Parts: sequence; C-alpha cells; structure tokens
Amino acid sequence: MALQTSKEGEIPLLILKEGTKRTSGAEALRSNIAVARTVEETLKTSLGPKGLDKMLVDSFGDVTITNDGHTIVKDMEVQHPVAKMLVEVAKAQDLEVGDGTTTAVVLSGELLGKAEDLLESNIHPSVIISGYQKASSWALEELEKISLKIDPSDKEKLTEIAKTSLSSKVVAAGKGLDYLSGLAVDAVMHVAKSKDGKFYVDLDDIKVEKKKGESLEDSTLVKGIVLDKEVVHPGMPKIVKGAKIAIVNAAMEIEKPETTAKIQITSPVQLKSFLDEQTNMLRDMVEKVKATGANVLICQKGIDDIAQHFLAKAGIMAVRRAKESDMDKLAKATNARVVTSFNELTSEDLGSADLVEERKVGTEKMVFIEGCANPKSVTLLLRGGSDMLLDEAERSIHDALFVVKNVLEDGQVIAGGGAPEVELSIALKERAKSLAGKEQLAVMKYADAFEVIPSVLAETAGLSPLDALVRLKSAHMEGKKNYGIDVLKGEIADMFERKIIDPTKVKSQIIKSATEAAVMILRIDDVISAAAPPPQPPKTGEGGMGGEEYRTPKNRSSLVDQVRAHPGDRIKGIAAKSGCSSPSAPRGDSWDE
Ligand code: ADP
Ligand code: MG
Repeated sequence: MALQTSKEGEIPLLILKEGTKRTSGAEALRSNIAVARTVEETLKTSLGPKGLDKMLVDSFGDVTITNDGHTIVKDMEVQHPVAKMLVEVAKAQDLEVGDGTTTAVVLSGELLGKAEDLLESNIHPSVIISGYQKASSWALEELEKISLKIDPSDKEKLTEIAKTSLSSKVVAAGKGLDYLSGLAVDAVMHVAKSKDGKFYVDLDDIKVEKKKGESLEDSTLVKGIVLDKEVVHPGMPKIVKGAKIAIVNAAMEIEKPETTAKIQITSPVQLKSFLDEQTNMLRDMVEKVKATGANVLICQKGIDDIAQHFLAKAGIMAVRRAKESDMDKLAKATNARVVTSFNELTSEDLGSADLVEERKVGTEKMVFIEGCANPKSVTLLLRGGSDMLLDEAERSIHDALFVVKNVLEDGQVIAGGGAPEVELSIALKERAKSLAGKEQLAVMKYADAFEVIPSVLAETAGLSPLDALVRLKSAHMEGKKNYGIDVLKGEIADMFERKIIDPTKVKSQIIKSATEAAVMILRIDDVISAAAPPPQPPKTGEGGMGGEEYRTPKNRSSLVDQVRAHPGDRIKGIAAKSGCSSPSAPRGDSWDE
C-alpha cells in the first residue's frame, strides 16, 4: 500500500489504491534498463548469418523456429512493460522497412546499457537524452554521407541486397539462398510501378502461399493468384479459359434463421414440396450467377451440395470458403467487385483472367488464376519439407521483398557486416569534440553503442570481438570506409567487394527506432503499477496463479539480481516471467524446471 504522510504526527493521506507498487528515481531506471539488456542479450546471438536460431514453444505446444528479431520478441510473450516497448520497436521496424529488427532491439539495449554508465557517473537522464538525440541526428547525417546511390533497375545489385538479407536465415542453406533471392527480386520488379523515373512498390500485390512438399528450390513465382483451395465438385470444369469471375461474400446455402423455429410437416406431399422449395431457392441462386455470364465463382462462405450440382451442370467452376485476405487480393487482381449477396450480383461486378485452372501441387490441389486483368499481381508459391521451414521461409521472404522494395524506391545502399556502425562511431566521436561537458560524454557513449554490431558479428564468426574491432577501426581511420566483417569467411574486408550490402533505409530506421525507444525508457523515473487482480480460486487444482511478479519492487530487484548473477540464464528469467501470470501457460514451467 502506498501511503503519503502530510507531516509527522498527522494522519496519513492515502493517495494510491491499496496494493499499488511504486518504484521511483534511479531504482526505477536501473531496473528498466536491466530488463532491456536482458532482451538484448537474448537477441544478440541471433544476429547475422552465423547467428543461431531460437525455438519458441507456445502455450499450445506449437513450435516456431526462427531467427527473425521481430518474431522472437513477439513470440516470447514478454510481461514487463519495458520489454513490451522493445517488442514495439521490433514491430515498428518490421512494418516500416521489414528488415533489421534484431539490430534495432540490440542497439536499443546497448544504448540503455551505455546510459547506465552515465547514470553511474551522476549524469542526469535529461542530459543523456539530449546528447542521444543530437547523436542520433548526426548519425543519420553521416549515414547519408557513406551511402551509395545505385541504379534501382540494376537487377544484379538488387539480388546481392536480397541475398544479404536472406543470408542470416535458415533458408540460406544450400542453393536456397541464390534461388530465393532471385525469386524475391523478380517478384518485386514485376509489381513495381514507375512514375516520373521513380519506382513504387505495393507489397500487397505479392501474395505468398505455402505448400508442403518438395524443397525450397522448387518454389515458383506465379504471374497471378494461387488459392489454396480445390474446385468443390468433381463434375465442374478444371480449366476455364477466358474466365469471368464472380467473387461473392455470401453462402450459397439456405440460411437457417437465428431464432429457433419449428416446421411441422404432416404428410409426405408437404415434405416433398418443402424440399422442392429449398432446391428451387438454390437453383435460383445458381441461375443468377449464370445470368451474369460468370464461369467461375469464388465464394467466401459455403456452397450447398445441391447448389454444387447445379453449378456443375451450368459448367461453372466454383471454389468455396476462400480466405478473406484472398478475396481482396483476388478482387484487385481481376478487377472484380466483391458482392455480399447473390441478388446483387451483376455482370459489371465480374473480374476477368485468361486462365483459371486447378492443378496438383504435391499431394493437394490448388487453384491458379493466371493472366489477370491487373497484371501486377503475383504469387510466390513456397515449397519445403516441413511446416516449420515453410513458416520461416515466409518470414524470411518477407524481409527480402521489403529490402528490395526499399532499394528500388530509395536507390540508396550501404555496406553491411558492421562497416557503417564502425564508421558512424568514429564520425560521432569526432563531432562530439565540438560539444562541451556532459553532453559530449553522452554522444561518446552513443557512439560506443554502435560497436556492439561489429562485435557481435565478429563473435559469431569465431573472431575475437576486441581484436576485430581494433583492426576495423584502424582500417576505417585509414579511409577504408566499407571495411566490415565477412562473417562467412571470418575475415575483415571491403563489404562492397564481398557483396554484403544493406539498404540505407533499413539502417536509418534502426537508428531512429532504437534512439526513440532508449529515450522513452530513459524518461521514465517513476513506475506506478496497480495491484494485481485478486487470485482466482484454482479451477482444476493445478495451482493458483503467481500474480504479475515484476510489479513488486522486491521481485523486480530479484529479476535484476537474477540477470546480473546468471547472465547465461537471462532468457530463462524472461521466459519464466512470461509464463507466471497465466495459470494455463506451461511455458514458464517447462523452461524453468
Ligand atoms: P536483422 O534482424 O537486424 O536484419 P540479421 O540476423 O538479418 O538481423 O543480421 C543483419 C546483419 O548481418 C546486418 O548488419 C548485415 O549487414 C549482416 N550480414 C549479413 N550477411 C553478412 C555476411 N555475409 N557477413 C557479415 N555480415 C553480414
Ligand atoms: Mg535481416
């Protein structure tokens, strides 16, 4: 209970609700920083092509294996509000530029770690914040200087960029890397629109579909839309050329009333007329579709067996229970309008495509819609041996598509492998000399934080981080601005020569989002958390819930202690916290045995 007394001897004034916990000042800041660093430590090991993957098991036992920063922090289901802020950083990074999520979270954590050093030397958070903000805008300026303009239509360069992005993913094994990078570039170039010499890409034009079987190298780019559905009735045509497509968000069934109704039938004649009436209604619906001239029907809801029969007789190919997201994509691709009732359907609502065909992919059937009215729509059909691999391939391809889009639209690239981080760090330290006093220290620390990226890359490459950093810095001092770490070869080299290239846009977004998160966390000097809801009586006798432990100062510091005492167990600490408030989530238990 938080009490505030007015003066000694007087009656205490109750300001906060009973059970409310409050930590303030340096203590609040320190524990928030400890949490951010814990998340950073967790992600560090996943950075770069030699970074390792994480296996995440959700409360249903579903397994995700991933290297994608955003997916890791999202699926960790963190509890602490500061950890949640870092999840937001990764999310923002993912939405804005698609790639660089791990780097953004690692840099946020590192910036906060360096801020802690400054706090130890009694520098006020507001000074750190202003120093960091200055450093961030300088870093963006310097980044611009070391960026290289490329010809956006240079397919070879785009492929190298896609490859750099994909090289850190599990799909990079074997020939998958070259093949998938090529596919990603082809897909983006196909949907790109050019206006006044500039390119624009809407990634919604690229549909990614997965089908288990074969291997990643058997993935294909289909110029059109692929639906993971089959034609509903064997009597329907399997190929329709010159397709006129009706897209309907309604059921071709007799709708049952919401209220309970009873129909009393007393004679066989009545029964027959009742059934006939149903049949007639379904026939009417089919007639309506037929009257518009449609030869393909894509239905978001169900199609009754009798209606299927009539459709087949009318020579109309039909697909039922199409996904909602597919409906929009399909409408855009075929220039159709989605209608919500069969009564409304007119010939003007129909979309068109050269060919609609049901094909066998692996052991299952899929419907291919090719030669669409809007030729910009494509589908990447991913193949792979297991669902987990396919899911990770989808996430990886998302990053690759995004980086190609970024470069196509923006035209600017930088070296990868930690090269820009070293260059920015040196440049910031040089510029910091113009500042006075404590702000200079803050900018210096900001510059130091950048070094985490080359250090981690060196470590994953089996090099000594300290040694690699010293060699990198001296190379940069000699003007070799693009020297970084070729992780795969374990060498320090010119990253452009090694074709390790990142989009500038990704790096600038990393700087922006990491600084924003660090500043936001540094601004907090008071954490006031409401009491946890009273414990529910255990339902199944599996034990009550632990409450949200991070909220109590005692437990907060115990988390911090745990983090400090067992750095290797940091992820365990977080996982245990994440499971503890939910009585049905076994993850905490299973990780923390
Ligand atoms: P993020 O989620 O931040 O994109 P990644 O695991 O994809 O994290 O790693 C990205 C980092 O790895 C970038 O800094 C990139 O330049 C670097 N990188 C990619 N390929 C190589 C390579 N072959 N050698 C060195 N660094 C690389
Ligand atoms: Mg990446």
